[in-house]
Amino acid sequence: SGETNAVPPVAGAGLRIPLVTGGDISYANLDHAASAPCLSAVRSAVDEFLPWYASVHRGAGFASQVSTRLYERTRKVLRRFADARDTDTVVFTRNTTDAFNLLAKALPHKTSVVVFDTEHHAALLPWRGPNVRRVSLPRTRLAAVSVVDEALAACPQGPRLVVVAGASNVTGELLPVAEISAVARKHGARVALDAAQLAPHRRISLRELDVDYVALSGHKLYAPFGAGALIGRSDWLRAAVPYLAGGGATKLVTEEAVVWNTGPERHEAGSPNTVGVYALSVACEQLAANWDAIGAHEAELLERLRKGLAGLPGCAELRLFDAPVDRVGTVSFVVDGFDPGWVAAVLSAEYGIGVRDGAFCAHVATSRLIRETGGEGQQALRVSLGLGSTAEHVDRLLLALRQIVARGARWEYTKVDGRWTP
Ligand code: PMP
Repeated sequence: SGETNAVPPVAGAGLRIPLVTGGDISYANLDHAASAPCLSAVRSAVDEFLPWYASVHRGAGFASQVSTRLYERTRKVLRRFADARDTDTVVFTRNTTDAFNLLAKALPHKTSVVVFDTEHHAALLPWRGPNVRRVSLPRTRLAAVSVVDEALAACPQGPRLVVVAGASNVTGELLPVAEISAVARKHGARVALDAAQLAPHRRISLRELDVDYVALSGHKLYAPFGAGALIGRSDWLRAAVPYLAGGGATKLVTEEAVVWNTGPERHEAGSPNTVGVYALSVACEQLAANWDAIGAHEAELLERLRKGLAGLPGCAELRLFDAPVDRVGTVSFVVDGFDPGWVAAVLSAEYGIGVRDGAFCAHVATSRLIRETGGEGQQALRVSLGLGSTAEHVDRLLLALRQIVARGARWEYTKVDGRWTP
């Protein structure tokens, strides 16, 4: 594999954040929302660290001390990345799904949870019990805030939590998080932000958004798989039964009793993913130093993409809200008369373009939005832009879609194990 400056100069953006790439191949990865390619700076940092990594908090050896220092420094980097309060804790998890499952287990008894039914399954499903209220997302941001207000007003006395995504993984649209947290405060509720899709594109601030928790995934933030975080208030976490039971989570174990740690280690039993969290922290530092350039790069490509799709016969974009809202570079759409899985297969095999098809782990959102375009079914196509995206990728996709709509595929495709194959 080689390294290139995969991001060509975009007018005005001056963006130079090299990615690890597969060499000279001209594969157009338009699926950053699923997992983003790794930054070169992350690879270099990991390379440098590999000879030194060891188990953390467990040894007097030099490597173990280096690893422990780096691991704990990483919590500080993530706290800064999320602009967390000084009292907030950072618990390392595998990913966003893991972070929300941890939070769900740490909720005080009888916590009421309010969540839009259109959320990603990672934010929708971990909450259980009679006090979970799934509310339907209305078509305006203002109404969305009112729906949360009403749902919280109807909750029984006791702890309350609202769970909301920063950006939709289906449409890229931004949810009104600050406004939702303002009404949550009125009802004494806490707010958990699903930042899986927002954090790779925009600076996030727990303080400014006034949210209590944020969950994110390293593999969407230009670092490899396996490391994510739950960042936020420490009281519920400190009081909760440890998420995992085992070494590292305990202060003392005797024949009679176990004394659990009260810090983030309480929920991190087992040898932690030292390399993974370090990689995540390096990616966060790189992104944090480049928000303006990242925003300009993505906005320019997004406009090019949406303009092109609007001119494609039979193409309907999925949208959560009626009015245009601020959004990240993710667009889902259906093309009248064309099976999304088939289109995705043709794009990949004949044009070297990787997009996502399906319901994007947000089944309620995807099928509802397809219905609202007048279409049928539960599957759509999703194109998601990121640091690896170029104007050529967008133009290639638009040309490919035009050709596919006009004349179909060049090859014949059959379905093998549920996938269209040439
Ligand atoms: N929330 C959103 C909005 C997502 O897009 C995703 C990933 N598709 C997740 C949560 C879950 O992330 P992970 O699979 O890394 O746990």
